[in-house]
Amino acid sequence: MDEPTVLGKQYVAGPPTEHVTSGLGDMSRPQRGERKLLLLLLPLFALAAGTAWAEAELQGSAHWYERYVLLPSSFAFLALLVWNYLLSPARVALVRNATLVVGPGIVLVGWGRQLWDLHYTGFDHELYFDIAPWLIFCSVLFLFLLPGRLSWRFAAGYYVLTLLMLGIFLAVHRESLPTIVVNEFSLNIVIAPPVFIVLTSAFTRLRADYARARTHAEDLQEMAMLDGLTRLPNRRAFAQSFKRAKARQLRSKTPLCVMLIDIDHFKRVNDTYGHQVGDEVLVGLANILLRELRGTDEVFRWGGEEFMVLLEETPQKHLAEVAERLRAAVEAANLLERSTLTISIGATHIGVNEGEDVVYPRADEALYASKRDGRNRVTIAELADKPAPLAS
Ligand code: GH3
Ligand code: MG
Ligand code: MG
Repeated sequence: MDEPTVLGKQYVAGPPTEHVTSGLGDMSRPQRGERKLLLLLLPLFALAAGTAWAEAELQGSAHWYERYVLLPSSFAFLALLVWNYLLSPARVALVRNATLVVGPGIVLVGWGRQLWDLHYTGFDHELYFDIAPWLIFCSVLFLFLLPGRLSWRFAAGYYVLTLLMLGIFLAVHRESLPTIVVNEFSLNIVIAPPVFIVLTSAFTRLRADYARARTHAEDLQEMAMLDGLTRLPNRRAFAQSFKRAKARQLRSKTPLCVMLIDIDHFKRVNDTYGHQVGDEVLVGLANILLRELRGTDEVFRWGGEEFMVLLEETPQKHLAEVAERLRAAVEAANLLERSTLTISIGATHIGVNEGEDVVYPRADEALYASKRDGRNRVTIAELADKPAPLAS
């Protein structure tokens, strides 16, 4: 069986419950995505910090930084990984914020350590390590992980902090620096980070705009398929549902039927009670139809005061019974105060080889026969195109 789409389901006039639940489900989708991203990032961070420590230990050059900053933070990343796994996706922001404290924190300490070493022990090819890519990476991390304006504020703030540390170093360290260090500072510390920040924030904004536009387009598409008054799917949605039902009919050879329903003398209802009551009657009728039909039958507002019903797996003799039940239910429903509201129905089976083009004309012809024969009745059009009056 095909999964029914949202539009394929039944709508009851009033607050659409289906929408509310699926809306809440969507709200946690970004959090679940973020949680997955952290599940990927945290082991990598733990590995990077752990490897840097192990490498330094093996080379005999391990420093306080490797032993007391990198090694513990490697464990901290692993602990965050476990926390992220245990926590519900709704609270993933906690793990993300902790990651953004530990990660950029150790890189900033590393930057301080590099400047400290330069100042006190001078430039040493053996010991010198280039922290610049990690500083850039941290800014990008803020841009990707933090929401809205916070993202670029933190990224820019982090950059300003690294510049501030460089400024303090240059103010204190009065000796000339090797060309390689001067080049690295000017290119990788001063120029590269803002370039990356601007590019990344433009990219993330573009991506967010695109996602918003896509959601908007999906909403519009859904709205285009729904009738605003009764919340029933409309004539456009019928084409889609009919195509799906037709595919199932071809596969399983089960009967497929339609019913065209038209309110009798609806113009009089509007003239007597006013348009607002007319609208309420349309909503009331939609509810009666949904209540009386099976969950697998679909009701569409065809236009004006006409409704179309698509019924799958309904044999010939049942079609007449169902239509008659609907007619009687509407007549008994007291939708109007001072008079009885009735409907006329034209119904037909759809042959296995028949397409949508024959559905409406034949159902409409049967409906016309019901109107002509006095209204408040059901006519079943036979496949040989001969409408047969049934009951009143
Ligand atoms: P018949 O028994 O032959 O079907 O007569 P009728 O008066 O129902 O048919 P007709 O097609 O002459 O009138 C349909 C009326 O339905 C006219 C139109 O104003 C009204 N109508 C169509 N859509 C709406 C709507 O959304 N709200 C309201 N209140 N009236 C509507
Ligand atoms: Mg009409
Ligand atoms: Mg009518």
